[in-house]
Amino acid sequence: MKKIVVLGSTGSIGVNTLDIVRRFPKQLQVVGLAAGNNHLLLAKQIKEFRPRVAALFDKKKSALLAKEISKGTTLLSGADGVADVARFADADLVVSAIVGAAGLLPTLSAILANKSVALANKETMVMAGEIVQKEAKAHKVTVFPIDSEHSAIYQLLLAGKRDEVAKIILTASGGPLLRHTEKMKKSVTCEQALAHPTWKMGPKISIDSATLINKGFEMIEARWLFDIAPEKIDVVIHPQSIVHSLVEFQDRSMIAQMGLPDMRVPIAYALFYPERKPLPFPSLDLTTLSGLTFETPNKNRFPMLQRAMDVLSAGDTYPAVLNAANEEAVGAFLQKKIGFLDMHKIVRKVLDAHVPVKVAKIEAVLMADRWARLETEKRIQKIS
Ligand code: MG
Repeated sequence: MKKIVVLGSTGSIGVNTLDIVRRFPKQLQVVGLAAGNNHLLLAKQIKEFRPRVAALFDKKKSALLAKEISKGTTLLSGADGVADVARFADADLVVSAIVGAAGLLPTLSAILANKSVALANKETMVMAGEIVQKEAKAHKVTVFPIDSEHSAIYQLLLAGKRDEVAKIILTASGGPLLRHTEKMKKSVTCEQALAHPTWKMGPKISIDSATLINKGFEMIEARWLFDIAPEKIDVVIHPQSIVHSLVEFQDRSMIAQMGLPDMRVPIAYALFYPERKPLPFPSLDLTTLSGLTFETPNKNRFPMLQRAMDVLSAGDTYPAVLNAANEEAVGAFLQKKIGFLDMHKIVRKVLDAHVPVKVAKIEAVLMADRWARLETEKRIQKIS
């Protein structure tokens, strides 16, 4: 029996993770759950999965949660409570699925407590990939990817030796605005930007997919997850979302991982690695595909992707700043305070104003994150 903790249990990845757990009651047991502020769904999950410990980040709502729950589960709250769930002694594997920068410290807590991590929170790697991987090595634990592209690459790398890899190629659907011109993007509404054509995801990542910054973050994530040089990481637009990523080896053999877009597949792979479990989902019928196409992303149309590539090579605290500025800008866009194109304008100015420092300790990352949020907020105020 594998004992798991799910951080971010009420989000899209969390809910899908629990769907897998429900299907394998003899192999998986939930011992801890943590969520942000959805106390009603967390209460429901606690009743169903009976974890030993649970935490709600939102302290004000935790009293409401306590009313819903009978004994058997220790209830915690706030950032400390979430971190305590992350390092819960009984857990074998921690699923890290909190959205955004808030996922960094709990993920690090889990690693420092010698827990292997199934990582959906890419911000952990974007902000502090070098530190996280150093700690994972020191604590002899593994970080398994949940992100579909990285799960694909993890599988593809098993086909050869690490020094035989010529490059890894991340696929991007291109999101809902792939064919939009600059002019059309000016008036894009939240609803349009949220309407992802192939993947069902939470709002933050859906907007990140519409600007393609998500793919840039995934390049940074890949850089640290697989310890691969930035120049060996490529991106292609593949609107059908059937090929989840590719690896080219030095003999020019290129291997692709394919399947229908369903996050439960990479989640199950991370939960059961190295085993593959039978999943009762529809299989990909190749004969129904009208074609698989690939194209180079247009970086003029997707300047956020270019910004992410810039910070991938610049390193230091730049990726943390890009992440924080983007998170604030996306929040403002979702609240309809700024327009779609304002997100890039603001983020770019914040990056330009940043004075980078080396990332030797996590404090440097957290300081850059705080600075970037304040800077971004100021610029949002100016516009709205
Ligand atoms: Mg992805």
